Amino acid sequence: MVNNGMSLTRYRRCSQIGFTLFFFLMPVFNILRYDTATHELYILGQVWSLGLPEHFYADQGAVSSFRVAAQFFLKAILPWIAFLALFPLLGFFTGRFFCGWLCPEGALFELADHLTAKLIGRRNLFVTTDCEPHPSPTNKFWYGSIAALGMVIIPVLSGIMLTGYFVAPKTVWHQVLSGEFTFGVKAGILGVTIYMLITSVLVRHVLCRFVCAAGLMQMLFGWISPRSLRLKLDTSRISACTDCRGCDRACFMNVKPRRNKRDISCVNCGACIDACNRELGAGKGLFHLAFGSACSLPAENCRNVRIKLASRADRTAE
Ligand code: SF4
Ligand code: SF4
Repeated sequence: MVNNGMSLTRYRRCSQIGFTLFFFLMPVFNILRYDTATHELYILGQVWSLGLPEHFYADQGAVSSFRVAAQFFLKAILPWIAFLALFPLLGFFTGRFFCGWLCPEGALFELADHLTAKLIGRRNLFVTTDCEPHPSPTNKFWYGSIAALGMVIIPVLSGIMLTGYFVAPKTVWHQVLSGEFTFGVKAGILGVTIYMLITSVLVRHVLCRFVCAAGLMQMLFGWISPRSLRLKLDTSRISACTDCRGCDRACFMNVKPRRNKRDISCVNCGACIDACNRELGAGKGLFHLAFGSACSLPAENCRNVRIKLASRADRTAE
């Protein structure tokens, strides 16, 4: 459980940075990459193979054929099914938790939102809502410089690191440093750079809501699951709401948390929980995250929910 001393948002920033580093470094440590030059797939530091000696492929006998088929099923089809099942399973148990706490692109979109809001007073370049986080622009030169640098460095760095999923990272970096590129490396870096630039400047969370396949799978399975992690509003204390709109302003997915409805766009980020705790006092906020009906985060909010339920049960028993 999360310690009360640190907000969910701070934990979330740590997990987003940690996962982004892991995602960038996977090819470097051969945790996952496909080398287009040698046609080898690396998984967890090993070159993937069916694990059969060469003569098995030449042997047309029934036993050898069966062994090849069994190995293919165990080492190719099953791992592929397990990989494909990952996001539906995540969705079933944790809703869109991956989107809010781990996804590197989601983290980048939040950063872009933040800088845009600091510069023009709203998150979105095209649309103004009635609950913007920073209604007045502030320190434009400072934030403008960070935004301009970020628009160059982040997409290009992403292009270099992600090209490593298909070309050995050593080769990619050698070409970057020498300035002499093969067509594949140049196309990889350029393609990812343009994609990152367009999605982070123009598209952002629209991609999360309507396009991203991983997000849509989590959304669907989280929606049908009775046990998935969800944002809950303590309706029995709704009279404590001061209508400060902190929860609405905190939500970068444009969800209205007080509606207390299952919203497929909610990524369980907890920003509204932090906002309400700030307004009403630590642990006294009206929101929490729950698996089914079991309050799970943050610890102090859940302690208050349990105390309230226990006292209600006592009153019923009397
Ligand atoms: S409703 Fe709350 S938990 Fe859901 S995405 Fe918005 S801020 Fe995050
Ligand atoms: S942050 Fe809490 S107190 Fe403020 S409007 Fe939202 S629910 Fe009400």
